[in-house]
This record gives sequence, C-alpha cells and structure tokens, in this order.
Amino acid sequence: MIILDGKIASAAVKEIIRTETLSLVQNNQRPPHLVAILVGNNGASETYVASKVKNCEEVGFKSTLIRFESEVSESILLDKIIELNDDATIDGILVQLPLPKHISEAKVIETISPKKDVDGFHPINAGKLVQGLPTFIPATPYGIMLMLEHFNVSTKGKHAVVVGRSNIVGRPMSILLSSNHTYGNCTVTICHSHTPNLNEICLQGDIVVAALGRPEFVKDYMVKEGAVIIDVGITRVEDATAKRGFRIKGDVAFAEVAAKASAITPVPGGVGLMTIAGLLKNTLQAYKGNIN
Ligand code: NAP
Repeated sequence: MIILDGKIASAAVKEIIRTETLSLVQNNQRPPHLVAILVGNNGASETYVASKVKNCEEVGFKSTLIRFESEVSESILLDKIIELNDDATIDGILVQLPLPKHISEAKVIETISPKKDVDGFHPINAGKLVQGLPTFIPATPYGIMLMLEHFNVSTKGKHAVVVGRSNIVGRPMSILLSSNHTYGNCTVTICHSHTPNLNEICLQGDIVVAALGRPEFVKDYMVKEGAVIIDVGITRVEDATAKRGFRIKGDVAFAEVAAKASAITPVPGGVGLMTIAGLLKNTLQAYKGNIN
C-alpha cells in the first residue's frame, strides 16, 4: 500500500513553478500576481486563504489579499472584481467561498473574467472543460490529477467511482477521469445523496474519490481490495482534547480503508496540498495568457 503523500507531490509541482518564476524575474519580467478576496472571517476560509498567500510567496508569485467585512454589499464586491479584471498587472482573481447569504456566489463567479478565473469556476471555463478544450481546471480536481500523475497511478480502463457532484469537486473530477488522456480514460460512476445503492457502487470502484463532506463516511466494507482511494473531505470535527478544539477529518475512515487499499491519500497532507499546487499552476497559466 502506498500513501499518496501530498507533501511530496505538491513540493515537486511547486519546485517546477518556482524555477520558472525565478527565470522570468531574472529576465526582468514581473512575477505572476494572484489576488485573493476574503469576505468575513470564517475560520476555515481564513486558513485556506493564508495558505494560498504563503504558497504564492514560496514560488515567487506576488499575492494581494483584499478583505471585506461580512456585511459588504454585493455591488461593492462586484465593482471590486470588475476593477481587478481591468488591471493588467493582475493575472488571477479568486474569491474565497462560501460567501455570506446576501451575496450571490453565481454572480460573483460570473463577474470574474474567464481569463483570470484561476479557480476554474466560471461557466465558460466549466464548459471548456466538458469539451476537452484548454481551460482553467478547478484547483482540487486539477490537484488530484497532478497527484495521480506524480505517483504514476494507472487509470486507463479502470472503474472510477466519484461520490459527490459539486461544481467545484465531484463533477469536474468525473469529467477529467472520463476524458481521453493519460490519467483519464476511466469508466466513471458519479454518486450523490439520492444514490440508493452507494455501498455496492463504491465496492465496484478501482478508484474511489470521496468528496461528500461527511467525516469518515467511506468504511472498509465499502471498498474493494486493492482500490485507489482519494479522500477530498475536509471537515472540522470538535475535539476538546485537540489544541485548537477541533480535528480535521476526511471523508474516509483512513486506518480501516488503508488496510484494503493499494494507494490512499491522507487527510490532512493529501488532496488539500495538491489543491494549492493546482491553483499555482492555473495562476502561472493565466500570467502567460495575460502577458502574451
Ligand atoms: P458540497 O458542495 O457540499 O457537495 C457534496 C456532495 O456530496 C453533493 O453532491 C451531495 O449530494 C453529496 N453527498 C452528501 N452526502 C451524501 C451521502 N450521504 N451520500 C452520497 N452523496 C452525498 O461539497 P464540496 O464543496 O464538493 O466538498 C466536499 C468535501 O470536500 C467537503 O468536506 C469539503 O470541505 C472538501 N473540499 C476539500 C478541498 C481540498 O482542497 N481538499 C477542496 C474543496 C472541498 P447532493 O448533490 O445530492 O446534495
């Protein structure tokens, strides 16, 4: 059984990006510039954004964090995005989700220029993904593909079961795994909360991607011997014995499933780190499109 270690795979991806950025700067070009917008002060969102900013620094990107109070109006937020769209020194824009209820996430996503949409959530970019055209792939599925590539996990002809159909993880993941490329060519089953025979379907998966947000949902009796397990889940579960009062749990009961799997991602230290790698790759791609 191998651990698909996100620290190792993301370090390799980041090193390539860092080297390329260094060479740009040595040739008197500006580095790529990512702007992150954070609305309110949700604890998990703060952590994710801080990590994105820190990782930009590590690879030599410029990053700017713009904060708004949770009461900010939708129109002020949209105006800021339009201003950033028009700024040629900015390559990538991300708005950390979730947003307060009075702001439409769909409107925010559609306002970001598709050329700067490094999260890959804009309907134009999502449409291109479906058609196999060059686009920004949503960072988490992109990170998982980079992970499969790094560890050379064979996917061709395999049955992949994706649990979860969100626009940011499950659905794009199912498209990538079913696409005709080296780490695709799977037969994909996508499951959701209305799937009646989930256990039976998971048991058929050579590859199981758990992206439902239910801590330790996938148990050993739901996976077959030798399956590759990708755990996307990140849930804060209260625990008075933990230093911060909570522990991060994945969607897979790690110890018992690892005993049956041929490969598995840990939580933390797996897909989360690869998501950042995917975001950095998208930002570099946006930069190249912007300066050319
Ligand atoms: P989401 O938007 O809440 O979607 C969850 C999906 O799971 C939905 O499609 C839902 O089905 C399905 N689902 C929920 N309960 C189910 C059940 N009992 N059986 C079968 N399907 C079920 O969540 P998300 O944004 O995709 O995120 C999923 C998890 O990944 C969360 O823990 C999130 O924190 C984590 N995440 C991690 C990263 C990372 O970098 N590692 C990035 C993004 C998200 P319906 O559509 O029928 O409701």
